[in-house]
Amino acid sequence: MKRFALAVAAAIATAAVAQAQVTEEMLLNDTATTGDVLTNGMGRHLQRHSPLDILNRDNVENLVPAWAFSLGGEKQRGQETQPIVHDGVMYITGSYSRLYAIDVKTGREIWQYDARLPEGILPCCDVVNRGAAIFGDNIYFGTLDARIVALNKDTGDVVWNKRIADYKAGYSYTAAPLIVNGLVITGNSGGEFGIVGAVEARDAETGDLVWRRPVIEGHMGELNGEESTMTGTLNATWPGDMWKTGGGATWLGGSYDADTDTLVFGTGNPAPWNSHLRNAGQPLDDNSGDNLYAASRLGIDPATGEIKWHFQTTPREGWDYDGVNEVVAYTDREGNARFATADRNGFFYVLNREDGAFVNAYPFVKDISWAEGIDENGRPIFVEENRPGDPAEAADGNRGEVVFASPSFLGGKNWMPMAHSPDTGLFYVPSNEWGMDIWNEPITYKQGAAYLGSGFTIKPNYEDHIGSLKAIDPDTGEIVWEFQNPAPLWGGVMTTAGGLVFTGTPEGEFMAFDDMTGEVLWSFQTGSGIVGQPITWEQDGEQYVTVISGWGGAVPLWGGEVASAVNYLNQGGLLWTFRLPQQLAAN
Ligand code: CA
Ligand code: CA
Repeated sequence: MKRFALAVAAAIATAAVAQAQVTEEMLLNDTATTGDVLTNGMGRHLQRHSPLDILNRDNVENLVPAWAFSLGGEKQRGQETQPIVHDGVMYITGSYSRLYAIDVKTGREIWQYDARLPEGILPCCDVVNRGAAIFGDNIYFGTLDARIVALNKDTGDVVWNKRIADYKAGYSYTAAPLIVNGLVITGNSGGEFGIVGAVEARDAETGDLVWRRPVIEGHMGELNGEESTMTGTLNATWPGDMWKTGGGATWLGGSYDADTDTLVFGTGNPAPWNSHLRNAGQPLDDNSGDNLYAASRLGIDPATGEIKWHFQTTPREGWDYDGVNEVVAYTDREGNARFATADRNGFFYVLNREDGAFVNAYPFVKDISWAEGIDENGRPIFVEENRPGDPAEAADGNRGEVVFASPSFLGGKNWMPMAHSPDTGLFYVPSNEWGMDIWNEPITYKQGAAYLGSGFTIKPNYEDHIGSLKAIDPDTGEIVWEFQNPAPLWGGVMTTAGGLVFTGTPEGEFMAFDDMTGEVLWSFQTGSGIVGQPITWEQDGEQYVTVISGWGGAVPLWGGEVASAVNYLNQGGLLWTFRLPQQLAAN
């Protein structure tokens, strides 16, 4: 009898699933459909902009908590997820490779999946996860042991579970996967362990690999089970065998520009950090020491995995200025199709969306020391004295000259996504004003061990603030307004057609700003630091806003003097959902 009841329940569940499948069309139109949030970036352009204006400058003071959800247990640490909302269910990922399905109306848990992580995982920068992807009947997310898992979105049952790479060699996975045309597309993490960055596409139904594209020159690609093409030209920009452990982790995932049918992925630092080992003897005035395609943005053909274009933000990289930061597709005021990206190296770049060609660049933080600026080809004008010295030239051969470089290796901006408003035309960039003492040391590659060849201490550049939310005009580089925050900003930003900009602080405040003036219009103390990514959607005629609170990420682990200045901040793990009650919306 019981078995019969279960069979009936399963049949009903199956019927419900069939109605609520997520299609390619739904992903394509995600921004316009305000009843759900189906994509990382709230739309494939990654603008993190909602056309909703039920909530606006005039009534945001009436925004109140609707429910909160605890991630529970002893596993706290940094919570960096962007929630997905679909068909009455919210999906969030949590620290230590957990995924939760939550009733979006009540905040009650529907199911939870905990990845069983092996001993010996090597996440460099906290046990974070930045979100899931949804398609068909499945929800997908990556795990700290470098696997990609497909779960049935209604039951949490495992549909498939595939290895991306070997965690024992330093690989891990923390980014939100990307879905395009029935493929699940992933990068990899582990750039501090001499791994090799790659982008992979799998059949969303089966998890079978369709293509693989390593992003460091000399490595061979794969398509449909066979070798495809070599990435770049062997030894064109890398000396000797250094390319074999050349880094370039694609750790922040990627995006898809439907207008040009192009995947866009960023690549991390070349390995090791000690740049003298990667371009020893390569003259400064040519490109032979550039270490392609590390510290770059890549345009990739989604059908084949072939590289269509590249733009390297930091050639001859020597400060850990990973080139992974998100690339936002937008249309400028003159109607040109553009990309914008705010790099770790402190410069905000505008690129042509057709071919990734350089259009313009502006500094978005103060005190940049490693480059005087960006030339007309998009190449940095290096300040060579600000490159940490070669230990081979030191008297004892153990430590090269120490330099104070700004921004710090955690970047003028790190992973935390900026937002664009098509209404103001501005970008809202969560930035940090900090520098570092950095020096180089000898290093040899050893599998599964840190491969840096550098030492460092991060320091604040100003006494009263590190964090700086900036509204930037992409046409001129003008900083239209700025909000300064004592602790470094590490959470995502969102804009709305209601004239609002949302973000959170490590001090726990979730804040709404006027998108034109930067005036703080609303703030709520969430109880722990915000390093997550806000979303908004509409339900029963009311507008909702959600953000996760839970302090952690790279700053407490790697932040040097800054880490000790913020070690009073409490950990947590609470998902907050806010609502503007209908009777208060008319104000
Ligand atoms: Ca939507
Ligand atoms: Ca790095």
